[in-house]
Amino acid sequence: MNHSAPEQIARWLQEQLFDAIPMGVAVVDRDHTIIHANRAFEEMFGVWQGRKCYAVRKGRSEVCNQCMDFETFQDGQPRRSEVLGQNREGRAARYMKHTLPIRDGDQNISYLLELYTDITETDKILKEYQLLFDEVPCNILLIDRDYRIVKTNARTRRMVGEIVGGYCFQGLKGFDHKCNECTARQTFEDGKMHTGHHIWRTRDGRTIHLHVITVPLRHFNDRFDMVMEMAVDVTQTLQLQDGLNFAHTFLETMVATAMDGILAVDQQGQVTIFNPAARRLFGLETGRRVSKQDLARMLPAEAMTLVEEKEHQVYLPDSTINTVEGRQVPVRLAGNQLRMDGKALGMAFSIQDLSELKQLHSEKLEAERMAAVGQTVAGLAHGVKNLITALEGGMYMLQTGLDKSNVGRVRKGMEMLERNIERISVFVQAFLGFAKGRQIKVQLNDPAEIAREVVSMYSAKAKANGVILRHERLGEIAPAPIEYESLHQCLTNLVANAIDACQMSEGGQTFYVTLRTFETDGVICYEVIDNGCGMDYEIKKKVFSTFFTTKGLGGTGLGLLMTKKIIQEHGGSIDYESEPGQGTTFRIRLPRARLPKIADGTETNA
Ligand code: ADP
Ligand code: MG
Repeated sequence: MNHSAPEQIARWLQEQLFDAIPMGVAVVDRDHTIIHANRAFEEMFGVWQGRKCYAVRKGRSEVCNQCMDFETFQDGQPRRSEVLGQNREGRAARYMKHTLPIRDGDQNISYLLELYTDITETDKILKEYQLLFDEVPCNILLIDRDYRIVKTNARTRRMVGEIVGGYCFQGLKGFDHKCNECTARQTFEDGKMHTGHHIWRTRDGRTIHLHVITVPLRHFNDRFDMVMEMAVDVTQTLQLQDGLNFAHTFLETMVATAMDGILAVDQQGQVTIFNPAARRLFGLETGRRVSKQDLARMLPAEAMTLVEEKEHQVYLPDSTINTVEGRQVPVRLAGNQLRMDGKALGMAFSIQDLSELKQLHSEKLEAERMAAVGQTVAGLAHGVKNLITALEGGMYMLQTGLDKSNVGRVRKGMEMLERNIERISVFVQAFLGFAKGRQIKVQLNDPAEIAREVVSMYSAKAKANGVILRHERLGEIAPAPIEYESLHQCLTNLVANAIDACQMSEGGQTFYVTLRTFETDGVICYEVIDNGCGMDYEIKKKVFSTFFTTKGLGGTGLGLLMTKKIIQEHGGSIDYESEPGQGTTFRIRLPRARLPKIADGTETNA
């Protein structure tokens, strides 16, 4: 049997449409019983035949509280609502539900047609997009052509509060007028993307800086009546930038105005920093480029290689650089590798000109030496006075002896005169030594050699007095600029005194005198150690003063005074420790840095 096309369609609609619709369709009666349902409905909710709709869609035992079916039965209005339910596996799902009344010939409604679309997925996706919109790590706002805020994301709400509906300039900046510079307006005008720097006021009163981008929010027909504004908080970045700018300016100023020469080279050895002080130091006129080769010629030969090898600072306290004209300048130099995250970037040097300092230093030493001479001469003058008093005493004794023809008195007066005349001769010798205002003349000498010679000179005398005399040299000592004869005299004095002290001791022990020579930290030291009589407080007060002796006629009381003068002339110092009855240690210190310079033309002794 053949059917015409309309017939066919009518048939299909009647027989198949119901099951073909890709939505769940069901017919319910006034008791909520499902009378009829299509295939899609069965796929959504499972078995329905003869069951209540609330049991099928929600697994309930009674009718839902908000069931809208009553109303449609009553007013005959179709309805649309979003409803929750569960699918055939019992999992929660969300549906869009359309309810249509089915009227009979009398317009009575005994059944409803219900159409269900599963929107669980759509809903999920919507929620995800909303979350994305709210929490994307920037502020997003939609602004209309009246500059009213249409929508903001949650991040923006947290920052500036609820501002939807108000003007953007008000909500974001607290202005009561439009901004002069407005990125949104620019976008409205030309439909293009614009960027700007905005300052917002937050709900808690802070000022924040934002980098803002506005783009048109286009509709499908390419028209737009809103812009989307995206703003990123750059307050911290700006603060960092400020800090960086400050550090940069600070460093630049420091380098430009530093008293020391500062220079840096990159990994290829090209000069990247060469400050004005460095130019002055090396004698380079401003503007002249400094090449790799220049630097190699001017810096101390070892400076670059040392810095290249070492990871920590290289410090050369006593070095020299060459100026452009080839003049040598004494300097103190510190060099460092420049590294960032372990990567080598080059080297930096800081160089201090020492010429002035060295000059001052030698002038000061000279002044100290002069002062030492002055002190000694003053001491000697005092001695002269004492000698004159002693001579006057002798003369008086002689005179009164002669007057009274008292031979005993005459002899005593003569003795006094003789003794003091002898002292005068010693004194005059010493005085000549002091008063000549002589220039000390040093030569390179082996410090230990002088000590060894003094000890060998005194070995016979020591032995005769039952004293064990030794020389000890601790470690190597390089030759030093020393006046051999003078230092010899000093050590002779100290060793002689030490042997005397052993003689003067009351104890019956074995006596030792040790002369020890060593160097520590650039200081040459001599120690003369004895276990002789030692000194009490009264003696200690006077040891270094003119003519003080505890040896009667056997002593002159000039030995230690002379010794001190010579040591001071060498830029050194002398001190001692002594315990009565225990012994004494005299210690001479000669810092190399303070030793006199060798005059040109003198040859070496060592
Ligand atoms: P002199 O040796 O002619 O007495 P010095 O100036 O050399 O003159 O010494 C002064 C005094 O210092 C000595 O007389 C002695 O009393 C004391 N003195 C010096 N060295 C020692 C020593 N090693 N032990 C004890 N006393 C000392
Ligand atoms: Mg002496």
